[in-house]
Amino acid sequence: MKHYPLLTIDHEALRSNMETVIGWCDKAGIGVAGVIKGSTGMTSVALDYESCGAKWIASSRLEQLKRAREAGVKLPLMMIRVPMISELEEMAELCGYSLQSSMDTLDALERVLAAKDMKHSVILMADLGDLREGIFERTEFVRTAKHIEDELPHVLLAGIGTNLGCVGSVVPTKEKMETLAGLAEAVEDTIGRPLEIVSGGATSSLMPVIDGVIPHKINNLRIGALVLCGPLEDYRTCYGREEADVLSDEVFTLEAEVIEAGVKPTHPVGELGVNAFGERAKYVDRGNRKRVLLAIGRADYGDIGDIVPMLEGAEVTMASGDHTIMDIEDSGKELKVGDKVKFKLKYTAILRLTASENVYKEHQKGRKQNGSQQEQ
Ligand SMILES: *Cc1c(COP(=O)(O)O)cnc(C)c1O
Repeated sequence: MKHYPLLTIDHEALRSNMETVIGWCDKAGIGVAGVIKGSTGMTSVALDYESCGAKWIASSRLEQLKRAREAGVKLPLMMIRVPMISELEEMAELCGYSLQSSMDTLDALERVLAAKDMKHSVILMADLGDLREGIFERTEFVRTAKHIEDELPHVLLAGIGTNLGCVGSVVPTKEKMETLAGLAEAVEDTIGRPLEIVSGGATSSLMPVIDGVIPHKINNLRIGALVLCGPLEDYRTCYGREEADVLSDEVFTLEAEVIEAGVKPTHPVGELGVNAFGERAKYVDRGNRKRVLLAIGRADYGDIGDIVPMLEGAEVTMASGDHTIMDIEDSGKELKVGDKVKFKLKYTAILRLTASENVYKEHQKGRKQNGSQQEQ
């Protein structure tokens, strides 16, 4: 008997998405770091990325990278959230590469590495306006690169990178990519040798790759979201590029069970205060409508906008921590208690559902590896 709520991972679709993205990048001379944090570091996702030709496995969490290594990932590991000083020792033991943006952390890393007589490669991050990690001032950036090169013998300056389209929503335009390429040349002039890596960003930086305008100098991207979600959130993952239409948006799907079915009013009845989350919600009175109550809630997936019913005409209208209400009036379908309903998932829902202990996971391995397996 299957358990619900059930998150299904279609590994064939996942590998097909990754192979397509790696194909685009290959043509532009770009190596891909497969980012696993969106799936809470699912080890099977890391192994799929490795088998598809990713050159690194990357995450923002050391715990996830450690599990990937233990599961048999052979590729170099890349820590892509600039590390805490308190985790440098563990990071040095585990990862060959990390993103960095603070002189203090780099100096501390040198001491950790010197004590262990080890080396570690870093990618120095430039903030090109998105305002998350990275050095903002150009002269300070070049000075920090020079400091690593000349003063930190155990820290190897593998390259430079940037991150866009994140907290500041800055679009990775051709111009931003050219700024990064220019910065790489300035660093190379200063240190007197070529850099191994110029890392142009995340999924959002695939846009200039698809458009064929990415500078040759950029030879690395760190990709997660588009491979996991496909074009479902097209303005977040691929800015509406139709080239992404070949990708599957059903790598991760969710099934929830109906625990109540029937007709109810659409506007609450009584004096209205706040909902379960302390929010003053707005309700549209659409009269009495057919709806189902599902045994899944915001504790599992976060926000109702991040789950998309696959039943045409159905709409998720309200949810508490453990309950979701779906209006099925316009679907023309009858549902009863015990039936299951299916959803496509946006990035944040995948992030949360993969992390939830209350959601069962089923891995469909595809034709090559037979069968499927269910686990909690
Ligand atoms: C999350 C992250 C990525 C991957 O982003 P996606 O949008 O999932 O492709 C790349 N680089 C850094 C620094 C990140 O934090």
